[in-house]
Amino acid sequence: MRLGIISALHEEQQGLVEAMERPYKLMHGMREYFLGQLWEIDAVCVLSRIGKVAAAMTATTLVEKFGVTHILFTGVAGAGAPSIRVGDIVVAESLVQHDMDARPLFPRFEVPLTGLTHFSSDRHMGLQLADAAQRFLAQDFAAAIDPQERAVFALSGPRLHRGLVASADEFVSGRERIQALGEAFPGLLAVEMEGAAVAQVCFELGIPFGVIRTISDNANENAATDFMRFVKSVASRYAFHIVRQFCLGINASSLP
Ligand code: SAH
Repeated sequence: MRLGIISALHEEQQGLVEAMERPYKLMHGMREYFLGQLWEIDAVCVLSRIGKVAAAMTATTLVEKFGVTHILFTGVAGAGAPSIRVGDIVVAESLVQHDMDARPLFPRFEVPLTGLTHFSSDRHMGLQLADAAQRFLAQDFAAAIDPQERAVFALSGPRLHRGLVASADEFVSGRERIQALGEAFPGLLAVEMEGAAVAQVCFELGIPFGVIRTISDNANENAATDFMRFVKSVASRYAFHIVRQFCLGINASSLP
């Protein structure tokens, strides 16, 4: 197994690169790829930057140039429904591109010539990610997140959700907009800007993948407020510990 780990924002990736044993940095296509061992897993960490094209290019390069066999995307997202709270964790089971619209040639949201609107993530990776997130919440959360930051963001008893994630080249920051998306996609858990692009690339290349997101905002008018503070002090800690638990889980499950 060689695991490609994509993050959209620098703060989310930094801790992972620091945790790598003997990292080796390679530049390609305006991105830095860090190769090394993460908790005994052969890994390649990279920042995709933001948006679907950026994410698709990064995922493709990971597979074609760096030979990864699995891809994991860690990042933050806006809440897709009122029941999803800031600090909750979402593991994507399926992903949709909510800005895809080739009507009248193809049905709305269908990715032309694939016949699909929803792309499924790898079931096994999804289960391992959900386990890793549960272990993070139970074992690491209390010590990993500064109590003051916990109070600022009102993080009390964060929960794990599994289901639908919608991506687009759009930062969703309006109450009516997120409500309309919730109506268009029943069961919507989170909105972000990369996951469904990675999903399409992995579908086309036959690579198992998983997407895990920490909810950073409510995708409403306040979405941009404190966004960077949340990423720095909360989401970066989530990403580090969840990936750590994920790698430890893989090691344990592959034991005879
Ligand atoms: N303010 C940031 C921009 C972040 S863009 C900056 O200055 O760098 C938002 C990133 O977080 C994207 O990678 C996207 O995947 C995710 N995200 C978080 N909340 C989102 C929302 N409400 N809508 C869409 N994407 C969101």
